[in-house]
Amino acid sequence: MPGFELFGAEEKRQIQDVLDTGVLFRYEFKEQRKNIYKVKEFEEKFAKYSGSGYAQAVTSGTAALKVALKALGVGPGDEVITQGFTFVATWEAILEVGAIPVFTEVDETLNMDPEDLQRKLSAKTACIIPVHMLGSAARIKEIIAIADKAGIPVLEDTAQAAGCRIKGKHLGTFGRCGTFSFDSVKTMTTGEGGMIITDDQNLWTEMSEYHDHGHDHAPNPGGRGGEGRSFIGFNYRMMELQGAIGIAQLAKLDTMVEAQQKNKARLMDSIASIPGVSFRKQMDPLGDSATFLAFILQDEAHCKKIKHTLQENGAGAIYFAENTWHFYPRWEHLLSAATQTRSGWPFADAGGRKRVVYDPDHLPQSAALIKRTLVYPISVKMAEERLNQIESALAKAALA
Ligand SMILES: *Cc1c(COP(=O)(O)O)cnc(C)c1O
Repeated sequence: MPGFELFGAEEKRQIQDVLDTGVLFRYEFKEQRKNIYKVKEFEEKFAKYSGSGYAQAVTSGTAALKVALKALGVGPGDEVITQGFTFVATWEAILEVGAIPVFTEVDETLNMDPEDLQRKLSAKTACIIPVHMLGSAARIKEIIAIADKAGIPVLEDTAQAAGCRIKGKHLGTFGRCGTFSFDSVKTMTTGEGGMIITDDQNLWTEMSEYHDHGHDHAPNPGGRGGEGRSFIGFNYRMMELQGAIGIAQLAKLDTMVEAQQKNKARLMDSIASIPGVSFRKQMDPLGDSATFLAFILQDEAHCKKIKHTLQENGAGAIYFAENTWHFYPRWEHLLSAATQTRSGWPFADAGGRKRVVYDPDHLPQSAALIKRTLVYPISVKMAEERLNQIESALAKAALA
């Protein structure tokens, strides 16, 4: 994942604008800032790029999830459905607002299985969060059809899939809102940072106020100190330096995706020669952000054999079955209800009664699939030498 690969003159120029004014903050300082509002400009450009009405910048992708859930009114007593293959941040945010995460299986898209979503809907479901994992789309239209029928909002966790589209329409614009991350390993980076996009002006207003201690941002004679508020907020404000970097990175996003698509296509050709291999299902291969290449082997034994051969030949692939940050059965802290809170919250209520218990064997379909799947991260700059090395390792794996 490549944002960090392309940090250069454009980012420095943007940052210099901020340093020249000395105004590091997105609000106030009207006289000093010489009309430079980098975070605001980044939001406007991100919304326009995505084809969305509004964008709200925040401090991280995790904060984006939390702010969106808050604006949607999700809290204690609610369930939020997401998938058992995602980064821990998705369900951390659900627990953080006091709701209970409910996990679905993933299918060969490696994302939410709509059939399992249907089964897991309950009277308590307040939100559905499909995750576009590893840069590629979930069956978002089917998921939204199910959600619409049940009258439940969809929040797309698009943290890993900036720049990914289905028939030209950007991920994150299908649901009520979509969240993005700009952390160190994401497609575009601001160091740390996040964004929420939505077409719903009221939802955006709620997010904008919540992320800034509830400030209503209405012009008034008392300035910022005189602003009103309608509810309790928190602070997830992005700073100007991050906004500046975001503007420069966003301008490169499509070029990054193009370069990744080229590198990915090349490796896919080699992988196709492995007997019995298949590729992860994609909603629209042409709209792929191509940050990862996932391929599925016949069974677990076959997968481990191929994995071993690739490793031996200097081209090791990621095996998410053994990864403790992205896969449900490996989240031992979730399964064991580990928390710093004395009462046991959020896994137990204030009276010590358990609110939820997670069974490690809850997602057999996902487990079977993830155990057969290998993944290569794709970057913008892949030297000819490196591509050749992976290709020759794959050729050996095809014979293994
Ligand atoms: C990275 C990531 C997040 C969180 O983003 P941060 O900016 O690191 O807080 C959320 N969801 C998914 C799927 C991610 O990969």
